[in-house]
Amino acid sequence: MRGMRALSKTLATLVARANAVHNGLLHQLSGYTNVPKDWRPVKGHEFIFTQVAAGSEPHVIETDVVIVGSGPGGGLTAKNLAEAGHKVLVVDKGYWYPPSHLPMTQAAGCQLLFAVGGTQISEDGGVVTLSGSTWGGGGTVNWSVCLDPPDFVRTEWADAGLPLFRNSDFDECLARVKKLVGASTKGLTHNHQNQVLLKGCEKLGWKVGEAPQNTAGKTHACGQCHLGCGSAEKMGPAITSLPAAAKAGAQFMEGFNVKKVVFAEDGVTPTLDTPEMQSALEFLYNLKYTEQVMPAEADYTIASDLFTTGSAAMIVNGDWELGNYADQLGDDLGVGPLPTVAETGEDPAPYTAGAFYMVPAATEGDALTVVLDFMAWSTNTENQIQMVEELRRLPANAEALADPIVTDDPLLAGAAEAVLKGTPQPTNVEMRCVFDAMNTAVRDVLGAGNDDFAAVTAAMQEAADNCVATL
Ligand SMILES: Cc1cc2nc3c(=O)[nH]c(=O)nc-3n(C[C@H](O)[C@H](O)[C@H](O)COP(=O)(O)OP(=O)(O)OC[C@H]3O[C@@H](n4cnc5c(N)ncnc54)[C@H](O)[C@@H]3O)c2cc1C
Repeated sequence: MRGMRALSKTLATLVARANAVHNGLLHQLSGYTNVPKDWRPVKGHEFIFTQVAAGSEPHVIETDVVIVGSGPGGGLTAKNLAEAGHKVLVVDKGYWYPPSHLPMTQAAGCQLLFAVGGTQISEDGGVVTLSGSTWGGGGTVNWSVCLDPPDFVRTEWADAGLPLFRNSDFDECLARVKKLVGASTKGLTHNHQNQVLLKGCEKLGWKVGEAPQNTAGKTHACGQCHLGCGSAEKMGPAITSLPAAAKAGAQFMEGFNVKKVVFAEDGVTPTLDTPEMQSALEFLYNLKYTEQVMPAEADYTIASDLFTTGSAAMIVNGDWELGNYADQLGDDLGVGPLPTVAETGEDPAPYTAGAFYMVPAATEGDALTVVLDFMAWSTNTENQIQMVEELRRLPANAEALADPIVTDDPLLAGAAEAVLKGTPQPTNVEMRCVFDAMNTAVRDVLGAGNDDFAAVTAAMQEAADNCVATL
């Protein structure tokens, strides 16, 4: 029975939509025409979209941030992040149509500018939604009304854990966005459809007010907003935030439907079962068993001893051993970054970590102020330089890293060069699971001589996943 009701609602919705699009009488009564009066082609921003050549290999793009969706949310995020100096890539499954192609006819617009042909119906047929799916998202097809979020909505969002909506910072953000998109009641002219609505409201005794629209005070009453703005006067993302993001260096891809997001770089989800990990294990295996660069018995301690007694020419290790190696080898010791990876032509970027302060999350008020002051004092340039003098370890402070005490010391300068090519290690407990799983796998390959690298990485992944699940 429920199924029949849903089917009947869906059919009724589709018929109503077809009627709205094709019924000539409705168009006549509402004064709707497919082409706005006095339409002239206008050029908008010339977007450049990254193109990917056809091929069977995965295409790799390096960026700091990927933004999925070029609507008002995605556009502003892209602008802010790109202007703050980040590498940004915005992708959208929809395509860009310049103002000279707009507004479209209803039939074309439904297919090319909206998700699901313009009719998204919930499973039970009870809710129908319209959402834009084109370059600029809903901002390209919306009706340009710019209302502030009502207080009760802001309160609800704040209560749901988003305190920004309760404070005045959000009002400042709103003011900045309204300025960018030219929200104003200046130049408002009501078209035929609006006038019919206004008259109806007056007759019913309903209160009517004017809402600002994002047309920067220009008179704009064609009534075609939902099929794209041909005059480029509606200040949606494709006219405002996305061109600003482009100016700040953001890259764009259209027709890019994101189907799966793998949070490989979130620092939380282990991604160990990869071809790269298999190659890394094979490299280690070959050092020992094929090239025989290291003796069969070598473990960390033996390798370190061979190095400090002059029997091994080189060792890969962290800066915690620098002082010890320098004491034992004196002028015979040199330090440098790992060599370029032949397969990729890129420098290795191993995790680099430091020593950290940990503060209970509940610390607040004066106690927090004192803790922060102490951290700032102990990591200031003067104290960091003193730490280098006493411990001969690299400082975390960038000014101290550039100080002659580091740059004039060949060992520290070599270590600093390696550190700067590294990737900061995420500071979270999941890393423990990753290291434990990797330790077991490396022992399996180097100790037991297991050369089934695919099986080892699969076991490594499973061990890390199981460990994360218990945290
Ligand atoms: C016809 C219409 C009229 C409207 N009128 C008004 C109005 O007058 N005033 C007002 O304030 N609001 C209006 N709205 C609502 C407003 O446009 C939306 O609230 C706003 O666009 C939402 O912005 P957003 O960035 O969150 O998402 P959207 O604008 O919906 O953008 C999301 C984008 O993400 C893309 N996308 C989604 N999934 C994927 C994927 N898997 N891979 C790649 N890309 C993907 C879509 O193609 C789309 O372009 C209207 C909406 C419509 C449809």
